[in-house]
Amino acid sequence: MHLGLERRIGKRSAAVIEKHLGITTVGGLLNYFPRRYLNRGELTPISEVPLDEEVTLIARVVSNSTRAMRARRGSLTDVVISDDAGTGLPGTLKVSFFNGFRAKAELQPGRRAMFSGKVTRYGGALGLTNPDFLLLDEDPETPGMDPEKLAAMPIPVYPATAKLTSWSIQKVIATLLDTVDLEVLPDPLPAEISGREKFLPVADAYRRIHAPQTAPDWQRARDRFRYQEALVLQSALARRRALLAAEEATARRPAADGLLTAFDRQLPFTLTAGQTAVGKTLAAELAQDSPMNRLLQGEVGSGKTIVALRAMLQVVDAGGQAALLAPTEVLAAQHFDSIRRTLGPLSRDGLLGGFGPDAVQVTLLTGSMPTATRKQAMLDAASGTAGIVIGTHALLSDNVSFYDLGLIVVDEQHRFGVEQRDVLRSKASKPPHLLVMTATPIPRTVAMTVFGDLETSILDELPAGRAPITTHVVGLAEHPAWFGRLWSRSREEIDAGHQVYIVCPKIGTDDDGDFSPGEAEPSAADLEGENGARELASVTAVVEQLRDEPALAGVPVAPLHGRQDPVLKSDTMASFTANQTKVLVSTTVIEVGVDVHNATLMVILDADRFGISQLHQLRGRVGRGGLPGTCLLVTTLEPGHPSRRRLEAVAATTDGFELSQEDLKLRREGDILGASQSGGRSTLKLLRVLEHEDVIARARQDALQIVGADPSLGAHPDLAAAIDEYLNPEKEAFLERG
Ligand code: ADP
Ligand code: MG
Repeated sequence: MHLGLERRIGKRSAAVIEKHLGITTVGGLLNYFPRRYLNRGELTPISEVPLDEEVTLIARVVSNSTRAMRARRGSLTDVVISDDAGTGLPGTLKVSFFNGFRAKAELQPGRRAMFSGKVTRYGGALGLTNPDFLLLDEDPETPGMDPEKLAAMPIPVYPATAKLTSWSIQKVIATLLDTVDLEVLPDPLPAEISGREKFLPVADAYRRIHAPQTAPDWQRARDRFRYQEALVLQSALARRRALLAAEEATARRPAADGLLTAFDRQLPFTLTAGQTAVGKTLAAELAQDSPMNRLLQGEVGSGKTIVALRAMLQVVDAGGQAALLAPTEVLAAQHFDSIRRTLGPLSRDGLLGGFGPDAVQVTLLTGSMPTATRKQAMLDAASGTAGIVIGTHALLSDNVSFYDLGLIVVDEQHRFGVEQRDVLRSKASKPPHLLVMTATPIPRTVAMTVFGDLETSILDELPAGRAPITTHVVGLAEHPAWFGRLWSRSREEIDAGHQVYIVCPKIGTDDDGDFSPGEAEPSAADLEGENGARELASVTAVVEQLRDEPALAGVPVAPLHGRQDPVLKSDTMASFTANQTKVLVSTTVIEVGVDVHNATLMVILDADRFGISQLHQLRGRVGRGGLPGTCLLVTTLEPGHPSRRRLEAVAATTDGFELSQEDLKLRREGDILGASQSGGRSTLKLLRVLEHEDVIARARQDALQIVGADPSLGAHPDLAAAIDEYLNPEKEAFLERG
């Protein structure tokens, strides 16, 4: 495999490329596209250059001076470079070279050069230290070229590393373009599409994206590859969907007078119109002998659980079992309690005593249950005694099996990816029906991309009687005294008979937080590369502190976090649910689903450490019982700090859709299509799910048509190969033939 690349660019270059870029194949390198293009004739505006990142920029030398260093041997060459094109206020950068003999000789005033390095700030001034540079006036790559043509020629800027400049990468790729026969490269785009869209042929497109003569060259090439990327992705999803739909499932038809009918009769409220409509859709799909694969999107509190429970009852009525998968133990336990409570006499578990054999047994199965209890739960699942099994990813483990699993419900999708869905599906002899629920509203294109293998339903109204949540940012940097106000405000809430959540980013003073495995959301530290030097609020420290807080004297306060013993955790939750514990100090274990109607205030400490959708989820825990809720986002960051933008955004609206758009804008693309969520392991190169909505929509249309007409893609071998490559990049097969 490696030979292909070595043979074309040489052993040494191949080794460098592998070491710094991790690329080992011809295809991998050809698809290493420039991030942007510089205009040879234009200087890069220095004020727009990002700090602390590897940058490539073009500038003119203003001055060059060299002096001996005082403390040690050697010399220091200071070069000042500027973006001044002759008018206006120039931006300047001081570039320092230690023993920079070549810089001293070559970077003479007036010269234009490309620089590559990390821009830092010393005091007030911007600077570069020992950057690589390339003189543009005498670029060895372009000897004797017509100066006018040369000026129009864009310079590709590749994502570079500290050790490998953009122009070194460019040079290697130029060699590759010379030695590979581009004409025989496979083309995943069907000819009809290329014709319709007037796309460049694939060979041409590779040449122009890496070595454009003019700006339209790379623009056209990029359009093509972007579309290609979208089509491969959408075809992968369409094929997956077609394969799933072609499978045979057991139809679970509604019973004339079963549990579901009895359940509907005893419901203490009327279903919302949305719940009824989605319920009908699910009922019809469950009754078919092809598997349902559906995503249910609904705001926090929109009542997804009832919808899921009704579907589960239909399956149980038809003689099958249903499994409900929750992302955390706390949530699984809470679902277990509340589902049994909601079912009342229809739940057969002896808790309430004496119900007929027609009732359904609801069973909890989590990883940290005592062995005996867990064994019994596994036995009940395997024997079919348990009609509804509720659990965490412990349900995914090998030794859990079901008698006849008819429906899988996944609550809060963002923690469960395609792979986990597949493991669960494998628990049934015939493919089970699948319902995935998420409270994180998903923009249409993201849904198409991330959940493109699922049909979508939306619950867009909240049940009546939901009270509004008011959110405030509490900036301790400008109002340190407000910290004390938090506790007197909490006391007011408690005196009124209500309860309070306090959320901290950490468990103890010496840990990194309480994030469950597979956490999709990046922490604020990931988003900003901050080093987290300040001490963050932790559950143990806050509980300690509140003990001595006069405003909360005599108030029962309890900690809750992921590292506690499961029995303690469920006792704590029970005590909070029963309104004995008044203040719950916890990590994000309460992020999803926890439902205590009497809680009206949530204080989130160091709220800037959480992402937008996490904050939105968290605050959805208050304002549930018809009582207005308040959420305080506490931060020590200065006003104007970029992370405070997230907090302001969350405070400004309770519209989850708006927030998730905002969230996506602030996140990196790779995080959106994280490995387990995208159905493939590659990250997108040219496609941006928010920006390129039209491309994605067109590609989806095309993909549905192609896959619909030719499910095995027999007539589109290059597309099929590209899909395989996308799904299994380590196979490295695609393009290697070139
Ligand atoms: P989520 O969509 O966030 O999972 P839940 O299913 O937990 O929401 O529902 C939130 C609360 O609303 C629960 O206490 C549930 O019993 C209640 N609820 C659900 N549907 C209705 C309805 N149609 N009318 C009134 N209350 C409802
Ligand atoms: Mg829920």
